[in-house]
Amino acid sequence: MKKFLLGTNWKMNKTLAEGLAYSAALMTIIGKYPQFEFFIIPPYTHLWKIKEALAAQKSPLKLGAQNMHEQDSGQFTGEISPLMLAEIGVDIIELGHSERRQYFNESDEAVNRKARAALKHGFTPLICIGEQQADKDYGVSKEMLAKQLKIALTDVPAAAIGQFWIAYEPVWAIGVAGTPAAAAYVEEIHDFLRRVLIDRYGPSGAAVPLLFGGSVNIDNARDYARLANVDGLFIGRSAWEPELFEAIMVALGTITK
Ligand code: PEP
Repeated sequence: MKKFLLGTNWKMNKTLAEGLAYSAALMTIIGKYPQFEFFIIPPYTHLWKIKEALAAQKSPLKLGAQNMHEQDSGQFTGEISPLMLAEIGVDIIELGHSERRQYFNESDEAVNRKARAALKHGFTPLICIGEQQADKDYGVSKEMLAKQLKIALTDVPAAAIGQFWIAYEPVWAIGVAGTPAAAAYVEEIHDFLRRVLIDRYGPSGAAVPLLFGGSVNIDNARDYARLANVDGLFIGRSAWEPELFEAIMVALGTITK
């Protein structure tokens, strides 16, 4: 049985000292919840030190980066390459988060190039997709999501199934200004994404892990997690304190899929 995925992106939060304290606390906590596979996605500057701490404890906690350039090296000031992240021993590369798309003009095509580069270097790309409020209002959410998903996975072969994850994060549900999505809506969209993946890859497409994120909290986490097509939760604010994250683990209990 596949473990339910549970992870958090810290965005541009936490000093290194805070990040190390968080990681130490989380490493202890997760031992009590073997039903989940955990990951954290800190800022780049924290990755080396946190990786050392994880390795020292032989922790199963997976480590991710919030972005990555697709080239191995070059004239790209301010960017971080796959080789640099591979040296650290990062497991996951988050790609296409709505904040990257909104504030850094990251396109579907760029997400695709990065996803292919991440796979080539043996990482797990965690590809984020999500529709805007206006898309939802115009009734074109599924079209927008299918476009994002299909472009992100262009030239990603079926052989890569199992090596990449998809996070559905409706933009209108993310962050302090977000409105939590209704569980029924999340299931409708995840079922749709599953079918897009099956159309694209055949039956093996059903094995692509689909995570949900956007204002997940202690009150709604279980409602989302029990949905048939939700394979994991990707959490922001509500997982930024180890105790609050643990409260969500307790609320989730046992998730069998
Ligand atoms: C996010 O930004 O990806 C996210 C899920 O944030 P939050 O849980 O804080 O809405």
